[in-house]
Amino acid sequence: MANSIKELLKQDDFSKDDIVKLLHAEGEEKIMLFQKSAEVKEKYIGKRVWLRGLIEFSNVCSKDCLYCGIRKSNKNPERYDLTDDEILAAAQFAYESGYASIALQSGELESPFITNRIENLLNKVKKFSNGELGITLSVGEQEPEVYKKWFDAGAHRYLLRIEASNPVLYKKIHPDNKKHNFRRRLDCLQSLQDIGYQAGTGVMIGLPFQTTEDLANDLLFMRDFDIDMVGMGPYIEHVDTPLIKYADKLLPLKERFELTLKMIALLRIMMKDINMVASTAQQTIDPEGREKSVEIGANIIMPNITPGKYRDDYNLYANKPGSDNIYDDSVSNLEARLALIDTEIVYGKWGDTKHYEKRRKRGGR
Ligand code: SF4
Repeated sequence: MANSIKELLKQDDFSKDDIVKLLHAEGEEKIMLFQKSAEVKEKYIGKRVWLRGLIEFSNVCSKDCLYCGIRKSNKNPERYDLTDDEILAAAQFAYESGYASIALQSGELESPFITNRIENLLNKVKKFSNGELGITLSVGEQEPEVYKKWFDAGAHRYLLRIEASNPVLYKKIHPDNKKHNFRRRLDCLQSLQDIGYQAGTGVMIGLPFQTTEDLANDLLFMRDFDIDMVGMGPYIEHVDTPLIKYADKLLPLKERFELTLKMIALLRIMMKDINMVASTAQQTIDPEGREKSVEIGANIIMPNITPGKYRDDYNLYANKPGSDNIYDDSVSNLEARLALIDTEIVYGKWGDTKHYEKRRKRGGR
């Protein structure tokens, strides 16, 4: 077996069967996989990471995803919505700290008020930073004209996780209604690419009902959709969600963590020049989770710069680091931790993907 894995790792791309085999790699085989992905990362990206200051500006959401701690029907979290001034102060902090980019994230709301509010915020961020601060949006499904408005106002990256690329699995983790429609999510991703965003997606790893074949298909989906950025992480169950009833069917957290590392490593080999986030969910399971993800393929870190008093209420999953964060996201702490794996932070640069440039030149979506 070790030999066949060795042979597989000589390839630049994988079939579904190859991926399934590689996701089962253990021991020496797993080490070979991680060595290969680390080499690919060093060659195409370098031993570097870029920062996106994450501002979780509102936990108000109109949707009811069955896995999510801030779903509309959960009455437990205190709902909050940062003021524009608070959002701009956090963006200013990122700018002055040399982060070069921010990511504005919230629950999903669609309305003319939201459209105008975000457009105004984008204009203000662009103005105070002389256009220098890069902006990623992650505010869910919207109409194409809304995406276009925000793109024209300065947002240039958009993260819309598909969460599960198998429509059958998607249906099992979302309510079965018009508001949670797999087709619309795909159409939104397509619109984002068409408009010109660097479009990102991602999945949860270790969901109930999910098979290794599903995970292999998730990677093929990202490759075939030609996405520019990926944020994927382990599924961590939340007690206030309907999916908690399947908690006894889940893989142990440590196995979900390892599976996520393998997914990152495989995607780095398959899509050498995309941006990939080292997720906070990885860090929630293992204090060194982000560094381990960076070592084998991830190149983006999103330090949380949401004002501390709100962080406990953006509780997408259990034990997400909050205001009592034992993980220090300060730049000096990050630098020290990354130095241990011989990786440096690139300041003052957007860190856009070569993949995006090539896709646009090819005239791809
Ligand atoms: S996953 Fe996103 S869209 Fe779904 S309920 Fe949670 S915040 Fe809302």
